[in-house]
Amino acid sequence: MNHLQALYGGTFDPIHYGHLKPVEALANLIGLSGVIIMPNNVPPHRPQPKASSQQRKQMVELAIADKPLFTLDDRELLRDSPSYTAQTVRAWREEQGPQRPLAFIIGLDSLLTFPSWYQYDTILDNCHLIVTRRPGYPLTMAREQDQQWLDAHLTPHADELHALPAGRIFIAETPWFNISATLIRERISHGEECDDLLPPPVLDYINQQGLYR
Ligand code: ATP
Repeated sequence: MNHLQALYGGTFDPIHYGHLKPVEALANLIGLSGVIIMPNNVPPHRPQPKASSQQRKQMVELAIADKPLFTLDDRELLRDSPSYTAQTVRAWREEQGPQRPLAFIIGLDSLLTFPSWYQYDTILDNCHLIVTRRPGYPLTMAREQDQQWLDAHLTPHADELHALPAGRIFIAETPWFNISATLIRERISHGEECDDLLPPPVLDYINQQGLYR
């Protein structure tokens, strides 16, 4: 069987259990050979992360230190230009060759806005999309044309993710975590506890750096 590799992009400001636990469950559920976490550089016209690129990178490293499933790729963080998933997965495909199955992981909230992403329709030429559940978001797209696009690519068969190099969307039955980085930043700024929301070494680092206060 071809090894299915997955890329997981996001701001990770900070990385939390809502990022890690659904993806760990997913890896067991469908068999992933590895997950590459790629924190993105945020374009200048968008609200900037509260933590610096270096701090976001450090937090990912702390979060995955004892989790061999995950690796970190910091190439977007180190870049000055905005990161577009369409370009990232095109470059990744060129590196990996045409046959290897590749997937990009997103949460359900991101699937709902996916058709507004830059050159979104080219992303499936280069990889599959694997969607993790997130509470509070519907399973259908707001616009009929986006639902048609989703239906055209959706598969209930995880096997297809391994058998084909790209082109399918799989919504996985992963556990739900009602956690967001926004919630964590708010709780810290109000002096509230976050112990059950993110790995202890990441929380220690946040406190030590005085982040999000
Ligand atoms: P923020 O609250 O700052 O917007 P976030 O917690 O949504 O951040 P991001 O770094 O923006 O995290 O998200 C990266 C990816 O992780 C996205 O695809 C997002 O859908 C997914 N994700 C984040 N939190 C969860 C969660 N609780 N369950 C499932 N997926 C999640």
